[in-house]
Amino acid sequence: MLDDRTIRRAPKVLLHDHLDGGLRPETVIDLAREAGYTALPTQDPAELQAWFTRGADRKSLELYLEGFAHTVALMQTRDAIERVSAECVEDLAADGLVYAEVRYAPELSTAAGLSLDEVVEAVLAGFERGMVTAAAAGRPILVRFLCTAMRQYARSVEIAELAVRWRDRGCVGFDIAGPEKGFPPTRHLDAFHLVQRENFHSTIHAGESFGLPSIWEALQWCGAARLGHAVRIVDDITLDDDGRAHLGRLAAYVRDRRIPLEMCPTSNLHTGAVATLAEHPIGLLRRLRFRVTLNTDNRLMSGVSLSSEFAAMSRVFGVGLDEMEWLTLNAMKSAFEPFDGRLRLITAVIKPGYAALRAEAAAAAAF
Ligand SMILES: [Zn+2]
Repeated sequence: MLDDRTIRRAPKVLLHDHLDGGLRPETVIDLAREAGYTALPTQDPAELQAWFTRGADRKSLELYLEGFAHTVALMQTRDAIERVSAECVEDLAADGLVYAEVRYAPELSTAAGLSLDEVVEAVLAGFERGMVTAAAAGRPILVRFLCTAMRQYARSVEIAELAVRWRDRGCVGFDIAGPEKGFPPTRHLDAFHLVQRENFHSTIHAGESFGLPSIWEALQWCGAARLGHAVRIVDDITLDDDGRAHLGRLAAYVRDRRIPLEMCPTSNLHTGAVATLAEHPIGLLRRLRFRVTLNTDNRLMSGVSLSSEFAAMSRVFGVGLDEMEWLTLNAMKSAFEPFDGRLRLITAVIKPGYAALRAEAAAAAAF
């Protein structure tokens, strides 16, 4: 089993994390005070954290999403967005991450008059500030932005254009998020085709609270390079009595083409996509060597960090250092950061980092 200290020190990579799902509880309280926002149930950070997680853990994606009304309401000014973004980077760096893609839907922050471009500018300024602070603290991290459109609204083409407009300044891809049922990826086909024509990248939340058709549309109609969650891909896999797996056409395509799966086990437990962590499809999918990656989704709402997700994987599935490195390399290979940057992190940071931890463990075992 991996111990917490090893997990925290190991270089980690995160591809699926929502900016509005990862605020510090202390910051939520501060921002509410500054904005005169009175809908929080408590002024105590620990109680507030527990309240968000209780609200998230109600076995429904729609109920899970309710907590975001509070965080988003507090992300309506340039200063607030920049602060939240900078703290996000600092928190990820403190957790031992070396690369992360953090996503947000700029259309959620325009209620007080900010333009979509001003929102992205504030996010990226915050990321920049956070990266400088983290590097100065001896924890260098590279954080990139994924620009998200809300699937229940109708601004996805505008948001895709926004993502492309900021591509050389820290935005590395486009995504859609929000309630999945009733809002299939093909509803936003024009946006995805725009992204494709621009030789840009998209990842799509699919197969989280809805099944195989959502995954199929995301890949074969919308051209998604990665899939958010995609737990329902197991509906296309059957197991013999002796444990041998048979993949249907879609599952085989996903594995053969090495389509990255951004899996978020605790979040899925909270939304009711799975009943227990032990039953989470990540157990089977990693055994079948799909390109699995491990992610947080919403650190505040689910009360997790990437380290705590790795600790859970170690506890439930016996994941050790080698497999932790495999999951990390899967994520780094699947990142939207250009190839040179990915390669540099793999060869100069990730592989040496795990080699050092393995050597340390071997030396400890020899005594
Ligand atoms: Zn998500």
